Amino acid sequence: GKMSAGAGSINFGISVLHRNSIGIGYVRELLQIPADSASRGSKFFPDRLVQGIRLNGVSFTYPGRERPVLQKLDLHLRPGERVALVGENGAGKSTIVRLLLGLYRPDEGTITADGVDYADIAPESLHKHVSAVFQDYYKFTFTAAQSVALCETATAAHHAIAEAGPERAASSGHRSEDEAEPIRSGIASIERVRSAAARGGAHPFIAELPLGYDTPIGRLFEGSRELSEGQWQRIAISRPFLRDPQLLVLDEPTAALDAKAEADIYEQFVSAAEDRAVLLISHRLGSARLADRIVVLQDGKIVEDGNHEQLLAAGGVYAQMWEVQAGWYR
Ligand code: ATP
Repeated sequence: GKMSAGAGSINFGISVLHRNSIGIGYVRELLQIPADSASRGSKFFPDRLVQGIRLNGVSFTYPGRERPVLQKLDLHLRPGERVALVGENGAGKSTIVRLLLGLYRPDEGTITADGVDYADIAPESLHKHVSAVFQDYYKFTFTAAQSVALCETATAAHHAIAEAGPERAASSGHRSEDEAEPIRSGIASIERVRSAAARGGAHPFIAELPLGYDTPIGRLFEGSRELSEGQWQRIAISRPFLRDPQLLVLDEPTAALDAKAEADIYEQFVSAAEDRAVLLISHRLGSARLADRIVVLQDGKIVEDGNHEQLLAAGGVYAQMWEVQAGWYR
């Protein structure tokens, strides 16, 4: 099928999602599409955050579970500030990210953006302004341009699925892409893709690929290029910049990287984020240390909040974690 970024735009159909075996539920989380229960008003998310995003007394238990994951949590993310969220496995870090994206709604308390309650914000507006890079699903095999434009193009595909119904969407997966009326989806201009890739630090290596932005990457295509972990990461961190999010989250994207490469990715991400609010999640305290403020989460509660030196001096949970990691990583 035709997969080129012809005529200055990036297209792909449901067949691409199909080929990559992505289920519809997965697509929703992948695309970070807010749940109706979390965000369904008609207000807009502020175009430029001034006060920032606040979690106010937020408690949360996953549907069907008994154990609360977050308990009366307060957290303030200011524009221009880089906050690192650290804590043991299962402490609730990713859950906070999902709430910030509006994938779930707090059972108690509110999340506000410059004082506007998430519940009153239109889902499209929330989607446009809050963006996360997750590590589970950053390697998709499209052309380089499509990979950068993944979120935006696939969001339109999601709406197409919703409109056409899953049966039709699934059957279109077997259709040739050149046939009339494929469920074509989203279009992002090649200029915007380039500028996002430049911010994420992906442009230089994409430009060197044999077909540039039209080079298939990943393992599924014959003759496609596999990228290094660091290059995949740069594609992943380019994606949010197709939109103009006011809160950017990097959710532990770098498990496969060594410490130096992780620090490079963090630096790229943080400098590209400019004056936006940034939340970084990492198990490596050597990376968390680069943030302006470190928030320590334990059993769904914030137990410490301060910069690296302050938290070391406090001699609490963070200081202990730092001691433990000193043996195997810095
Ligand atoms: P890690 O460092 O391992 O990624 P985390 O701090 O990000 O952990 P969460 O992923 O937020 O922790 O998980 C917090 C708790 O919620 C864990 O006990 C986890 O098992 C549970 N949990 C996470 N996702 C779900 C889900 N979709 N449904 C039910 N329970 C979940």
